[in-house]
Amino acid sequence: MRMGTNLPKVGSYNRAVVLEAIQVSDGISRVQIAKHAGLTAQTVSVIVRKLLEEGLVVEDGSLPSSGGKPRTILRVDPAAGYAVGIHFDPGEISYVLADLAGQPVTVLHTDVRPGLSPEEVIRQMARTARDMLRHAGVPDHKVLGIGLACPGPLDADGVMNFPPRLSGWDQVPIKRLLEEHTGFPVTFDNDAAAAAIGERWAGLARATASFAYLYLGTGIGGGLFLDNQIYRGRSLNAAEFGHITVMPDGPDCYCGNRGCVEAICCPSAIEAAVRTRLAEGAGSMLAAGPGNGPEKDPGADPAGGPGGPDHAAICAAAAEGDPLAREVIDMVAARLADAAVSIVNMLDIDLLVLGGPAMHKVGHIYHQVIAEAVASRPLARRLHQVHVETSPIAADAAAIGAASLVFHATYAPRLGTLLTS
Ligand SMILES: [Zn+2]
Repeated sequence: MRMGTNLPKVGSYNRAVVLEAIQVSDGISRVQIAKHAGLTAQTVSVIVRKLLEEGLVVEDGSLPSSGGKPRTILRVDPAAGYAVGIHFDPGEISYVLADLAGQPVTVLHTDVRPGLSPEEVIRQMARTARDMLRHAGVPDHKVLGIGLACPGPLDADGVMNFPPRLSGWDQVPIKRLLEEHTGFPVTFDNDAAAAAIGERWAGLARATASFAYLYLGTGIGGGLFLDNQIYRGRSLNAAEFGHITVMPDGPDCYCGNRGCVEAICCPSAIEAAVRTRLAEGAGSMLAAGPGNGPEKDPGADPAGGPGGPDHAAICAAAAEGDPLAREVIDMVAARLADAAVSIVNMLDIDLLVLGGPAMHKVGHIYHQVIAEAVASRPLARRLHQVHVETSPIAADAAAIGAASLVFHATYAPRLGTLLTS
């Protein structure tokens, strides 16, 4: 848990420390907040009174305490505010209406219709977000904003910068257009960083000071919390784990390098590896299985090659023990494990979270191989055990994370604001 400070002029920082302490705990008393955050009982008491008055926090029962009077348990009031999280992926748009505790109230997925201009797609996003709020009966004054998770890179103003797999979207000011079309403030981040923030606000990294998130979607990305702060880097594009080199003479990557983990492990690379092995005559149920034909699965990665089994079919076959599919998925797991060991050696984190839609059906295979590598290969393995966990919200991680972006931007404490003001 993050430490507060008892110096003057840091009221809003301490308020954020207290609110975050309440959100990331599963019920906490004033005494526990003071102890963990290093604040005086009086400071905590004043801040909590204000949070109760504003309706952000509620009292929820009490804990027995030794000798003294029972301690009242505090929780964030989930109904105090809402956010819509939108995950814009080249193949699909996911929407989550989440309450202040980060729990999804409604989840929705729509296809990206081919041939629409960027502005038409953004208008469709705005309409769907508005419809979700209306159906759920959430009034505008309870909406804290829209969170948007997009494939990176994005600049600091929310303008897309040569997004891979989204031709026609370079220099689209997606944040400004979505604000104009919804009338709500928009907080944005790349999809992997959003997923990490979701894991911190509402998932399994709530109580972890330093963790990395390895995000497996259409591409491979990452998010990073170091000492309780998200780490974004100078251009807001830190943790591009997908471009760690794991095979120096491997395939070319669109970033300009060779043998990046993304160029070997993303869904379109997995499809290409299976096509090659089938063309070599490898025996497999995929040789005549679903998704294998000139008509590609419409949900498959649009950048994938024509024909051949799609990613979903390959993962399903690997889960059923098909030897060819399993061989390719095992190779992918091993390269992901190489990248994971580099991440752990570089950052000395407590936890590595695996998540994202490309984990579907094969997440257990990736988890096992990566956890074994992280337990046996990093230099500091005898000093410090690094946990590897699969996100329970893997499939919708980026959309739930996008909603959490709004709460995190509104309520999370930032040491930077203390140092620069
Ligand atoms: Zn690359």
